[in-house]
Amino acid sequence: MPTYGRLPVSFIRGKGAWLWDKNDTRYLDALSGIAVCNLGHAHPAVHAAICKQSEKLLHTSNLYGLDLQEQLADKLCQRSNMESAFFCNSGAEANEAAIKIARRYGNNQGITQPVIITMEKSFHGRTMATLSATGNAKVQQGFMPLLDGFVHIPFNDIPAIEQAIQSNSNIVAILVEPVQGEGGVNIPDADYLNKIRDICDRHQMLMMLDEIQTGIGRTGKFLAYQHNNITPDVCTLAKALGNGVPIGACLASGKAAEQLTAGTHGSTFGGNPLACSAALAVLDTLNQEDLINEAAKKGGLISSKIAEKLQNNKQVSEIRHKGMMIGIELAKPCANLVQEALAKKLLINVTNEKTIRILPPLIIDQEQIHYLVNTLSELITEHTEQQ
Ligand SMILES: *Cc1c(COP(=O)(O)O)cnc(C)c1O
Repeated sequence: MPTYGRLPVSFIRGKGAWLWDKNDTRYLDALSGIAVCNLGHAHPAVHAAICKQSEKLLHTSNLYGLDLQEQLADKLCQRSNMESAFFCNSGAEANEAAIKIARRYGNNQGITQPVIITMEKSFHGRTMATLSATGNAKVQQGFMPLLDGFVHIPFNDIPAIEQAIQSNSNIVAILVEPVQGEGGVNIPDADYLNKIRDICDRHQMLMMLDEIQTGIGRTGKFLAYQHNNITPDVCTLAKALGNGVPIGACLASGKAAEQLTAGTHGSTFGGNPLACSAALAVLDTLNQEDLINEAAKKGGLISSKIAEKLQNNKQVSEIRHKGMMIGIELAKPCANLVQEALAKKLLINVTNEKTIRILPPLIIDQEQIHYLVNTLSELITEHTEQQ
């Protein structure tokens, strides 16, 4: 079904930050399959892990013990300071688990109509529950009735949270992205998550972070909330967790970790040996190499170089970045830039109409950074001069 407006190119192989199409033309991937291939394409450790695992066992069932799933849960919990993990196959499913945790948490306290606060311009997925949570009318258009139990408030607005809590005694949780991805690379105040943590503690509400795009090293920490030295009650992951092998996870701690008991949730494929072998290889690689710190530096370098080249361009409204999550906001809609970049063999994305989003693989090298900075700055200059 034509659910995506596809670009007229298809790739047949990749290596690191490069991709090749059918004619053997090379492209620089500055999007990483939307924050999925953080370690680049055809990463040797991921390749080796899934080859090795596929010789032994792809799938049994969650009806049996799964050693790799347990190992992955342990490693994720260690690195996140969380207590338990539920595995699924996508971001939307990870958020479904989070929403079910919040609802059970409410129901168990006698709140039969629990409500979750989510943000305007947020994105949480395309299933009915997650699109109802999403703060974007375009995503919801034509899919009425939505699920009840969500209130949307402005992002990065602490008084709006306090107000929502005061006017609704059914609120049990807050679900928020540490940096809004689809919404336009929106970075909140440095202490936003700390203040949310404090509010959730005071009102016994669950703090649930959607780290599906920000997680696995993207923002310069393994998880974005580690910039704030806090621990949420729930954290959802997917995208880069398997570097391209589909896997999602919902991590929980404290009361949140006690909600989903035997028979209350499940997934046939969730956390199967193949997917877990890929995720374990990803975590291993991120442990061994100083990739995440490097990525934070590279992200800073890319945005400051682009800012330098475009400093006199009045149509560039703002350049924002957190690690390797970079947004360049223009004064006018610029969706065409995606095709213009493709013609120059560069893969980028435009989100929220006016924001160029780049999510390069963390392993991007200096030469590729140079190519990215020069090509993108030229493109933006040409594009803004046309108007
Ligand atoms: C991509 C994304 C999702 C949805 O993930 P899927 O794997 O496409 O279901 C949810 N939340 C955020 C923040 C995302 O970036």
